[in-house]
Amino acid sequence: MLPKTHFFSGIIIGFVFLLFGNFSVVEISIFLAATVLIDFDHYLYFVIRKKSFNLKKAYIYFKEKTRNLRLLSKKERQSFTTGVYVFHDIEALGIVFLFSKIISPYFLFVFLGMLLHLILDWIEKIFILKTSPSKLSLIYDIILYSKKKEI
Ligand SMILES: [Zn+2]
Repeated sequence: MLPKTHFFSGIIIGFVFLLFGNFSVVEISIFLAATVLIDFDHYLYFVIRKKSFNLKKAYIYFKEKTRNLRLLSKKERQSFTTGVYVFHDIEALGIVFLFSKIISPYFLFVFLGMLLHLILDWIEKIFILKTSPSKLSLIYDIILYSKKKEI
């Protein structure tokens, strides 16, 4: 899913939090930032795989991956993986939630932002792209990555 889709979804949910919840602008801003910045792991993946720090090339690289995936049939898509992303999993969510209990309650808003992002990614994967499940567990994604071809 494109960063702008995550950003606008975060704005809508953040606005609802602001209207109906007892949250500060700082808390909502952290939530909004987390909905987008979780995708930094895609850039890390690009840097490691392509040995390049070029952000524009990274953006194009992931747009092409999604485009190539869409060109395949639903059945063909099952044998491919798009990569392993360290912040897109329940392990990262668990760590951030733990941080909200032991470091600062602000991490709860990072957790909620990441959770919204992941829910949107899961919806895209399951209902739109109809690919094999991923971005649920880092361990599971590493296993998938070792067994499937990278698109
Ligand atoms: Zn994502």
